[in-house]
Amino acid sequence: MAAFTSGEIRAIVFDLDGTLYVCDRFAAEIHDASAAYIAGLMGISQDEATHLMAATRARLTEASGTVQTISAVCVELGGDVQELHNFFVYNLRPETYLVRDERVITLLGDLAKQIPLYIYTNNNRVLTTRIITYLGLDRALRATFTIDDTWRAKPDEEMVKKIVAEIGLPPNNVLFVGDRYDVDLRVPEQLGCPVYLSQSLEQLLRLKELLTPSFPADKPAVPADQQAARS
Ligand SMILES: [Mg+2]
Repeated sequence: MAAFTSGEIRAIVFDLDGTLYVCDRFAAEIHDASAAYIAGLMGISQDEATHLMAATRARLTEASGTVQTISAVCVELGGDVQELHNFFVYNLRPETYLVRDERVITLLGDLAKQIPLYIYTNNNRVLTTRIITYLGLDRALRATFTIDDTWRAKPDEEMVKKIVAEIGLPPNNVLFVGDRYDVDLRVPEQLGCPVYLSQSLEQLLRLKELLTPSFPADKPAVPADQQAARS
């Protein structure tokens, strides 16, 4: 993955799940809900659906050479991505699992003072809104792009081009941040965008120090003339 020069970053597009928060229990809950949807669709048990989805994912991954999303597995088994997401909206309770982290709120708040921040996610708009509001990140974000915009899951070249065009900057000024290279970063990188793989809170928080050199120094809390007057 190419290193980016901090000076060129004028906007950031974050993935949501696994990137702006990392929560294995909620990820497992999403997989369980997917299996429940496929089980209902095919008239099989949830255990059978879980095994079938794992085998299908492995087969698709081997055939394509890239990691496959839940959406791709669902479609391969005869499911409908829109129906799957309706099922998610009614069955998933992110608030039960996710924990608000002040360090992430501060990171995004600080970055948002300098450049516009966006989300581009394979999650749907209802759950994305609930998650970012619950995590306290909603105010830092300029806009969110969700799977409902096109009902085509990442990776999707057309959608990445549309997002970069809407942001209105050259691709080399738009940093994409995600936890899965094949899903979140490969297409943006091919289109000329800098990318950053973040799979843990520590990696996410490092963004501040990686980007800070490109931003003007923070204004001092007390203006210089008042500092002089006090001394
Ligand atoms: Mg992700």
